[in-house]
Amino acid sequence: MPETAAPKYLSSSLNSLDIAVIGAGPHALTLAAHLLQKRKTWGNRLCFFDPSGGWLSQWQQQFAALEIPHLRSPAVHHPAPNPFTLRDFAQTHAQELYPPYDLPGTKLFIDFCDRLIQEHQLQDHLVKAQVERIVPLEKGFQLWLGDGSLVLARRVVVAHGGGRKFLPDWVQGISTPYPSDRLQHSSEVDLRTLHCRGEKILIVGSGLTSGHLAIGAAKRGAKVTIMARRVFYEKFFDADPGWLGPKYLKDFQQESCWLTRSQTVINARNGGSLTPAVFTHLRRLRAEGKIEFMENCEIKQAHWVSGAGDQGNNLGANLANSLDDNWQLGCSNGEKLAVDRLWLATGSTLKVQEQPLLAPLLVTNPLEVVNGLPVLTTHLRWGNCELYLMGGLAALQIGPTARNLSGARMASDRIVEALIKPRTFQPLIAA
Ligand SMILES: Cc1cc2nc3c(=O)[nH]c(=O)nc-3n(C[C@H](O)[C@H](O)[C@H](O)COP(=O)(O)OP(=O)(O)OC[C@H]3O[C@@H](n4cnc5c(N)ncnc54)[C@H](O)[C@@H]3O)c2cc1C
Repeated sequence: MPETAAPKYLSSSLNSLDIAVIGAGPHALTLAAHLLQKRKTWGNRLCFFDPSGGWLSQWQQQFAALEIPHLRSPAVHHPAPNPFTLRDFAQTHAQELYPPYDLPGTKLFIDFCDRLIQEHQLQDHLVKAQVERIVPLEKGFQLWLGDGSLVLARRVVVAHGGGRKFLPDWVQGISTPYPSDRLQHSSEVDLRTLHCRGEKILIVGSGLTSGHLAIGAAKRGAKVTIMARRVFYEKFFDADPGWLGPKYLKDFQQESCWLTRSQTVINARNGGSLTPAVFTHLRRLRAEGKIEFMENCEIKQAHWVSGAGDQGNNLGANLANSLDDNWQLGCSNGEKLAVDRLWLATGSTLKVQEQPLLAPLLVTNPLEVVNGLPVLTTHLRWGNCELYLMGGLAALQIGPTARNLSGARMASDRIVEALIKPRTFQPLIAA
């Protein structure tokens, strides 16, 4: 999707907006599509900020880097309001719905989103900028952008994903310098540019990302080990489909204890899992001797050993490795391993107090926080201020699928209801 310049109304005025949306990923797109269905003429009230300058750029980058052929979620989950429009769109792309639950192909999903973006001319409402600071005013907000400029907005929706890479403790304990490309979080690995024929790669983590990375590395001739703290297990979806409707959500929403709700969210997601198709593929590769599984096991210590004797600093990613350079690993089951690369498919953590954009708001506009999740209103509003959160941070209200496409739909329903509620116009008061 092409990058766009700032919308004309933004550059020409004193940057005063009605609704500023931070992020231009699937959640922001879902919000836009739901709002514009209810208020067709509100396009000019909306302005999206994303440092990439394009729609869904993070999503596309992740799918391409991991060579993911199709979504994990079925075709009814997508940003448009009518659940069946993606299936209709797929009539001309029939080969791109994958069994067993009509999982949209990666390209089909992007083509569909692209059409939605064009339909609402959303590329004209996207500003290429990172929002670095949100300052609440008496009415509205100041948004400070990466280039130092300032925008005023009456209402703000934060749809910025916002997870922080989770790194296991032993990573802190590594005392030897190592080339940066030899230890990477999964979000930094790009299979498309990887040359690893003959290398030994250890992937930590039992989720679907581990599976995609293992398949991609094995395809390129690496000898792969995937390590899980528990046993690998398969599940079609991130969370049981009962979380999409009243079956589980009714009790969840009646639960008045936020701590219980947060624990329910953690239990329902139950860490990482593989889809049956990916698990079957991995087992086949194991039978062919290309992949090994290490279960109920963790790394305890890691040392980078440089056979060339270069223990110096600044071991850049482009440093040519000696054949003897490798990781020496001590594992919880007593085994010692030597590998060329370590990949951490260990997911991300989401805590509002660790978010550079939101943590200052906890000081100016305090809010109860439980296990890192803010206690928002039922409309996902931050207390009394006109700031709304979408994504994983809304999980205490939306439930375990808050970060998924289905969660984006549920969040949009609630936020849109609040945004369109008639209220008297309040002019912005600058600080
Ligand atoms: C590999 C992978 C596959 C997935 N597959 C599925 C699936 O099949 N089905 C499903 O339901 N869910 C899936 N998910 C989960 C979820 O739907 C995605 O993570 C999705 O991208 C979340 O959308 P988002 O808009 O919240 O975040 P993102 O896609 O991360 O978009 C957020 C955007 O906000 C921007 N941003 C961040 N900070 C700022 C800032 N300060 N100022 C301005 N902009 C900012 C970022 O640049 C980014 O473009 C998957 C997740 C991953 C990682």
